[in-house]
Amino acid sequence: MECNNVNLVVGCGVSGAVIANLLAEIAGEKVVIIDKKDHVAGNCYDYRDENGIMIHKYGSHIFHTNSEKVWNYLKKFTDFNTYMHKVIGVIDGIETHIPFNFNTLYDVFPKSFAKKLEDKLLDIFELNTKVPILEFQKQDDDDLKFLADFVYEKIFLHYTTKQWGVSPKEVDGAVTARVPVYLSMDNRYFQDKYQGIPLDGYTKVVEKMLTHDNIEIRLNTDFAQLKGQKFKRIFFTGSIDEFFDYKYGQLPYRSVNFKLETHNKEYYQSNACVNYPCNYDFTRIHEYKYYLDDRSEKTVIAKEYSENFELGKNERYYPIPKDENTQLYERYLQETKNIENVYFLGRLGDYKYYDMDKAILRALELFEEIIEGK
Ligand code: UDP
Repeated sequence: MECNNVNLVVGCGVSGAVIANLLAEIAGEKVVIIDKKDHVAGNCYDYRDENGIMIHKYGSHIFHTNSEKVWNYLKKFTDFNTYMHKVIGVIDGIETHIPFNFNTLYDVFPKSFAKKLEDKLLDIFELNTKVPILEFQKQDDDDLKFLADFVYEKIFLHYTTKQWGVSPKEVDGAVTARVPVYLSMDNRYFQDKYQGIPLDGYTKVVEKMLTHDNIEIRLNTDFAQLKGQKFKRIFFTGSIDEFFDYKYGQLPYRSVNFKLETHNKEYYQSNACVNYPCNYDFTRIHEYKYYLDDRSEKTVIAKEYSENFELGKNERYYPIPKDENTQLYERYLQETKNIENVYFLGRLGDYKYYDMDKAILRALELFEEIIEGK
């Protein structure tokens, strides 16, 4: 390919795949897309194992969005099942609902006490209100203070310490606010209008996005190998500090280690995802066959262990939203002002804890902005 007319997309995850697809399909431009990994789809990568079970190699990915734009775009590549995610948490040995809601209240407390708390809560909050735990703790009433401390201790404190290596008060409040206290009977993890899992998995969706005469995919290829080559534009979905050779230092991330186990029984647990906030060293157990209702006499689970990201040792999963990290990211962002035709996107490129739909929306909007001038 003649490089001056070619766009380079670094990273074959959803962000890279969407921008590559739009450049090829809508703008009619040539694209080379590369990835260090030996597969496309980034951390959404899934595959069917020898038991016919769709495994999410980098942990459970549940698609959910309120964006018609994102949903309509994705529907061009796949149908979805009607799966609505629920999370079970084991609290004091009781299997109950997470986020903490009115059903959880009645599961963990005697009925009369639960009723008293419910009445007090409904005096203060409207039904179906979502309250971040750090807000919920600001209660004057003794019973509600007891409840808030209970929820903080049993659901957030130890889970967050395992997940992030620090207490909920030391990470940005937006992190724990993702799983608010929900004054509702709704047991779902997400309330978005559109939810589901692509019927043939995420990898197939990305493969379809990238199947185009204008797109050349190069796997096992590092950006460093192409440095110095000229491209029309570069869309970089890797970590922004890597692009600048870590000149101001490394942006911190959390990583995750999934330990897979195959069990000789039809089901291992009662739900796709079971959280263990207070027990064990893992945060949660995923049982993959639930997502697409795969049938097998065996089942595959993954125990999720969080750890610090270390360059060369493990993968980046979660940017760590914290003031000092945001400031470091902004220093790198400032550097981008000195270069032309290079765009950063995705969880790593933008150093933002995006869900899949937000990463896709960002790619759709970046395309509109750059190519369509919107
Ligand atoms: N969280 C928690 N206990 C739980 C579930 C979540 O403390 O049982 C907190 C924890 O800090 C976690 C954050 O809420 O990192 C966001 O959880 P979410 O399930 O959205 O994380 P993800 O699925 O993106 O890993």
